[in-house]
Amino acid sequence: MKPTFHHRLVNNPFEDPCVHVRVLREKRAFLFDLGCISRLDPGDIQKITDVFVTHTHIDHFIGFDILLRSLLRREIPLRVFGPANIIGCIEGKLKGYTWNLISEYPLKIEAFGIEENIVRHSGFYAGNCFRRIDLGERPFDGIVLKETPFEIRAACLMHQIPCLGFSLNEEFHINVDKAVLVEMGLPVGPWLSEFKKVIRVGGSSDTEFIVKNRRYTLGELTPIANITKGQKMSYVADSSMNEENIRKVIELAKDSDTLYCEAYFLEEDRERAIERHHLTAKTAGRIAREAGVKSLVVMHFSPKYRECPDAPEKEAMMEYNKRE
Ligand SMILES: [Zn+2]
Ligand SMILES: [Zn+2]
Repeated sequence: MKPTFHHRLVNNPFEDPCVHVRVLREKRAFLFDLGCISRLDPGDIQKITDVFVTHTHIDHFIGFDILLRSLLRREIPLRVFGPANIIGCIEGKLKGYTWNLISEYPLKIEAFGIEENIVRHSGFYAGNCFRRIDLGERPFDGIVLKETPFEIRAACLMHQIPCLGFSLNEEFHINVDKAVLVEMGLPVGPWLSEFKKVIRVGGSSDTEFIVKNRRYTLGELTPIANITKGQKMSYVADSSMNEENIRKVIELAKDSDTLYCEAYFLEEDRERAIERHHLTAKTAGRIAREAGVKSLVVMHFSPKYRECPDAPEKEAMMEYNKRE
């Protein structure tokens, strides 16, 4: 199955957490958390359209400045989603610089602050010297962004402060069955992208396609489309180890192909983990197992384990692989 998106950690697990998602076949990328992003290529940074920030502790948000500087001359807006205080934090960052020479610059930042039941929207536009404009609010039902073929959901978690966990879901995945294509005498080509697009938006079966100078309806072409479950990736950073949080994370990550989860402390430092509002590696393993995820990637390790860098992953995997 050709994936629709690729995801990877930008840094090593002792550095700032940040996952880069490249949407294949589209010049577009997402970031989950905005720690230090200096390892990303300038070309990759230019493609970032949406950023999902779990909370604004410095290790999750320090990359904002690099992103801002790189995108100042970009026409495509940047959307930043985060907990309720993200709007104030962006405003504070922007107020930290002087913006008298950018009125010709195109960049528009759309910021969305998410609470239990509400999403607040503010805009910061270069043409307006990045002064905050409040643009209203909408009810929040768990869906942060829905844009065919994706849906991004968030769970409101606690980390002493409000913190979000995210999941990126592809509604369904369409593979072209090459054997059927050959059987029908149809060529591969750009028309297939259009064909997939029409299926994704639920186009009518009468929709017509011209292939090799012949007219086909969507209905006639349906046999070449093999529709399967879409990709799912979840991202959970700093979270308190209470059962309510853990339950919400399991629900969010349910059946993910990949879960990125923090494993800041080892179970032997459980007391410290509770005090500092972080998960242990063992808890990350339990979450992944109970959520039935296919692959667990642990990240965000405390520097105290630099001497035993494999220990957090080993502990998480041992718990994850336990069968009840
Ligand atoms: Zn934190
Ligand atoms: Zn952190």
